[in-house]
Amino acid sequence: MIFRQLFDPGSSTYTYLLAERAGGEALLLDPVFENTDQYVQLLNELDVRLVLAVDTHIHADHVTALGRLQQRTDCATAMGEKSVAECVSVRFREGETLNVDKLRLDVLYTPGHTDDSYSFVLPDRVFTGDTLLIRGTGRTDFQNGDPGAQYDSLFNKLLRLPPDTLVYPAHDYKGMMVSTIGEELQHNPRLQVESRQAYIDQMNALNLEAPELMDIAVPANRECGLKSAA
Ligand code: FE
Repeated sequence: MIFRQLFDPGSSTYTYLLAERAGGEALLLDPVFENTDQYVQLLNELDVRLVLAVDTHIHADHVTALGRLQQRTDCATAMGEKSVAECVSVRFREGETLNVDKLRLDVLYTPGHTDDSYSFVLPDRVFTGDTLLIRGTGRTDFQNGDPGAQYDSLFNKLLRLPPDTLVYPAHDYKGMMVSTIGEELQHNPRLQVESRQAYIDQMNALNLEAPELMDIAVPANRECGLKSAA
C-alpha cells in the first residue's frame, strides 16, 4: 500500500493519500485548498491517479480542496449522506465501502463533532476525522455538534476496534502523528469518564473560541471549496 500523511501548518490538518500500488488509483482524505498543487505533484511523482477526494465532514477551520482537485484531475468528490454539501459527486453511508483498486475503506457514521462526521476503517488503521483525536476529541459546540452522539460514536464504534488499530486523526496541534485505539483508551484524558452524562458535561464545559476561519470555511466548504476561488 502507498500511504502518505501530509500536514497543513496553517490549520494543523492532516491529509492522507492512499493507493494500493504505483500505476493505480489513489484517494485523498481531507485535502486542504491551498495545498492542491502539492497534492497534484505528489500524485504525479508516485505515479498514481486520483479517483476520489473525500472529506470526513464539513470543516470549519480550512477550505477543502475537493472542488479544486475535481477540476484539476477529474476525480470524484465524496462526503457522507448527512452532509449539506450538494457539490459532491458521491455520497456514502455507514456500511458501504470506498474502493481504490483493491483497497476497501469501510465507512462508519461517527457524528458528534458535527452531524456529518464519518470515519474510515482499513484492517490495520482507522481515519477518525475530528471524532477521535490523539489525546483529545473534536469539539461539539457548533455545526450541529452533539456530545452525547459523540460519546456513542466513540464508545460504541471507534473504541470497539481492535486495540492495536492505528489511529490517524484529521488534526493534531501538538505534533502527535499517529496513535492506537488501545493507547487512546488508556491515555486520552477525554475518554476517562464514568458515564455518558459525564462526557456530555465535560464537553459542554469547554468554552472554546470559534475557529478563526469558520465564517469563511463553512460556506465555502458547502460548495466544495470553490467559493473561495472566486
Ligand atoms: Fe472539524
